[in-house]
Amino acid sequence: MEAMGLDFTPAVGDYAFTPQQRSLLALANRLGREKFAARAAQWDEEASFPFANYEDLRETGLLKICVPQAHGGLGADYPTYMMVAAEMGRFCGATALTWNMHVSSTMWTGVLADGIPMTESQRAEHAAHSLLHFRRVVEEGAIYAQPFSEGSAAAAGRAPFGTTARKVEGGWLVNGRKIFASLSGAADYYGVLCTEDKGDEKPDARDTLYLAVPGTSPGFAISGDWNPLGMRGTVSRNLTFTDVFVGDEEQLMPRGVYWKGAQTWPAMFFTLAPTYLGIANAAYDFTVQYLRGEVPGEPPVKRRMYPTKQVAVAQMRIQLEQMRSIFLRAILEARPNPSKDEKMRLYAAQYTVMEGANDIARLAIRTCGGQSMMKHLPLERLYRDSRCGALMLPWTAELVLDRMGREALYEAGEKDE
Ligand SMILES: Cc1cc2nc3c(=O)[nH]c(=O)nc-3n(C[C@H](O)[C@H](O)[C@H](O)COP(=O)(O)OP(=O)(O)OC[C@H]3O[C@@H](n4cnc5c(N)ncnc54)[C@H](O)[C@@H]3O)c2cc1C
Repeated sequence: MEAMGLDFTPAVGDYAFTPQQRSLLALANRLGREKFAARAAQWDEEASFPFANYEDLRETGLLKICVPQAHGGLGADYPTYMMVAAEMGRFCGATALTWNMHVSSTMWTGVLADGIPMTESQRAEHAAHSLLHFRRVVEEGAIYAQPFSEGSAAAAGRAPFGTTARKVEGGWLVNGRKIFASLSGAADYYGVLCTEDKGDEKPDARDTLYLAVPGTSPGFAISGDWNPLGMRGTVSRNLTFTDVFVGDEEQLMPRGVYWKGAQTWPAMFFTLAPTYLGIANAAYDFTVQYLRGEVPGEPPVKRRMYPTKQVAVAQMRIQLEQMRSIFLRAILEARPNPSKDEKMRLYAAQYTVMEGANDIARLAIRTCGGQSMMKHLPLERLYRDSRCGALMLPWTAELVLDRMGREALYEAGEKDE
């Protein structure tokens, strides 16, 4: 490990990390080990938001990890963020996943936006608006959520969003409903994707707007229960918007730019995966510790001498190495307008991580056995949390298969008679 300058193997595996990557990985690992791991059971049990972890994220600067350095942030680039997020996922899935929603709000508008084509006036408008959002995160420690899902084909990228924004003097009037809004009740701002309401014109996905709605806005409400299988600390409840006014400056991207961004930067949708790579690492680490009889507080019973257990651990490690390799390759080559092969690899990486995390957690429980799935141990939570990865839109496991099959067999624009 010395070659990497770290005293642990990061969730992403070993690599010639930059000094910034090393120091952020060490920070995430320390926070995770010393604070988040011990608290994770509480958020899971109560289905409550990890506020204490967010205090730590704020204090250590990790809320501003992707805010450019010129604006007071840590200036992490895409691969650096993805590596650090995987490390966090190892200790608390719900914290890593919600942190992703927050960080993406600054990454998409920061380092990713630089690679999205914009006119000169859009670029100038974006520079002015993003300053406001960066300042809130840096100076006020504000938290941003990312509610896109609506229960329609919109979050899958197959239809315009049903939530609408109508242009009015000085801003926008937002109406609609979102489901699965992680950080509901915890976020200060909700980065809502909506379609511009142009009166009689048919709604068009190219008119998608990305607006930050302050949580204190009149007409904004949170509703519904939150009692899911896993990722319970994300508190992903429903949001409704009834004639919510937001000023022009709340645009996280200029009109029409989000849609272009989604076409240009497909890797922006891969940011949900690192949480689950972290979970896979945690399930593997636990299994090794358990079979060696080294789990603190548990009887020191060794189970490692059985060949079937050794085979299962070998299978888990092979799958973990495959996940790490394709993950690392995908994040290092991520860029605007990737080649067809790079895009296919990105889809494959998403599928491999999201399905693989659940496979590893399933094998971990089967291999460690009945005593390992008790609630006082983390494995059953890892198993439940790992199930959620393949459900995340727009790149659910099913939709990835759908895209890969289609894009492998049809070139852009090709049709059958
Ligand atoms: C823990 C957790 C946190 C979440 N946090 C957020 C969040 O912060 N923000 C947010 O926006 N969303 C969030 N989501 C929502 C998530 O991204 C999905 O939108 C949600 O899981 C979709 O559920 P659904 O039942 O409405 O899916 P449905 O739309 O009913 O789809 C069911 C399945 O059908 C498939 N499918 C969907 N559309 C198509 C299509 N057009 N063609 C072919 N197949 C299709 C997909 O595989 C999908 O999984 C979260 C989800 C979870 C589990």
